[in-house]
Amino acid sequence: ALIMEQMQQQLTARGLDQEVRVIKTGCFGLCQKGPIVAVYPDKIFYCHVKPDDVGEIIEQHFIGGQPVKRLEMNDIDEITQEKIFDIDKIRFYAKQQRIALKNCGQLDPENIREYIARDGYEALAKALHEMQPQEVIDEIKKSGLRGRGGGGFPTGVKWQFAADQPAGDKYVICNADEGDPGAFMDRSILEGDPHAVLEAMAIAGYAIGAQQGYVYIRAEYPIAVKRLQIAIEQAKELGLFGEHILGTDFSFDIEIRLGAGAFVCGEETALIQSIEGKRGMPVPKPPFPAVSGVWGKPTIINNVETYANVAQIILKGSGWFSAIGTEKSKGTKVFALGGKIVNTGLVEIPMGTTLREVIYEIGGGCPNGKKFKAVQTGGPSGGCLTVEDLDTPIDFDNLIALGSMMGSGGMIVLDEDNCMVDVARFYMEFIVDESCGKCTPCRVGTKRMLELLTDICEGRGTMETLDELETLGKMIKDTALCGLGQTAANPVLSTLRLFRDEYEAHVKEKR
Ligand code: SF4
Repeated sequence: ALIMEQMQQQLTARGLDQEVRVIKTGCFGLCQKGPIVAVYPDKIFYCHVKPDDVGEIIEQHFIGGQPVKRLEMNDIDEITQEKIFDIDKIRFYAKQQRIALKNCGQLDPENIREYIARDGYEALAKALHEMQPQEVIDEIKKSGLRGRGGGGFPTGVKWQFAADQPAGDKYVICNADEGDPGAFMDRSILEGDPHAVLEAMAIAGYAIGAQQGYVYIRAEYPIAVKRLQIAIEQAKELGLFGEHILGTDFSFDIEIRLGAGAFVCGEETALIQSIEGKRGMPVPKPPFPAVSGVWGKPTIINNVETYANVAQIILKGSGWFSAIGTEKSKGTKVFALGGKIVNTGLVEIPMGTTLREVIYEIGGGCPNGKKFKAVQTGGPSGGCLTVEDLDTPIDFDNLIALGSMMGSGGMIVLDEDNCMVDVARFYMEFIVDESCGKCTPCRVGTKRMLELLTDICEGRGTMETLDELETLGKMIKDTALCGLGQTAANPVLSTLRLFRDEYEAHVKEKR
């Protein structure tokens, strides 16, 4: 904010405020290097900018036409050893393909006209004026889009279930209750491009015959909430939500519902309970929400990133989307790259990109020359991938085959200094805090697993403790009521399988 203020003031003082527009955008993705100032149309990217740098950028770059080479850029050219300024040449972006993040960092998310200028709401107009609801669903089915929230369920099939229910009240929900430690994909999309999600929800509403949408978002995301509110108001002013949208018979409204930050409310049945004003606790399925969701009515729930793909599929066609990715995982996936990695940030890669490309070419490898040890994907429900998995193409099925999962997109990199037992214990602590307590396997079992892990870490563990940990983990997996409990043991089971020597070293060392 300080840099923007300085920029605006100094441009005005020099009489340049009509020539240069300063806008606050959403996330550029390269979080490690912020604050970032990107200059268009020159496509110059300044990193770690300070308020004191502003005058030089204006004088030397805006007036003099030369980039300020003193300032930090992200990359050094390996041959010339010169700093790379050009956004298109920065290695961090070279292997990325931006669909869900298309507009993030490119427009002012608080100005609907900027979204409209970049084809915004054209997909909604196309759907309403040129397509029958079933054609919209067919297009989404053909695209191969799968849910980006973790499960990977085919989005079009989910929409079909809801559309096939008798006409009447139906609901469209956006699950923005992102809660995995280290994950910030959904927050960034909503902060950077809220209209993409809202437009997709309206398209989904038209497809299934719903009149009402809810964005369920955690209150800890105040900027995203504010930008969503502004976006909804601006869209309503232009007649894009409400009655008779774009002159058709279709009416659709969207409201925001704030969550209180309970991880379990990301589970769809708990989320529905929370929207209804009840305590956010899962209930058994079936019936599935597409048949009986909010207030017992057919409801589709998709996550933020899933919706962020929809408008572009409708505009560019399912063939365009399905040409990207692998045989069974189409399109791209956004990951929040964190932990022991040089370029912490948000990356969007075509499905099928290898882990090696993500860790080394985009992420820049582990800092300080440390050796890469593993990466935890899928957050507290996921597992670890190791050096052996570096050349595996990343997609839904490959990650599951390796004993991990895509999850919503958290990717925590671990280096040779990380103790894998500590990592497993961290996730188990998180789960024990977040378990809703409704069913015994999760409420009691995860607590016991945490006690066993603590015993191991504090030198009271034996080889039998490892066996008990494993047995208990498998039992919770089979018997817990909801996805949170069913996947709670995954980080432990995964690290036990891949790094058993570290567990055994703890047990032997400390006896
Ligand atoms: Fe609650 Fe855990 Fe049971 Fe899910 S598995 S219902 S979070 S106690």
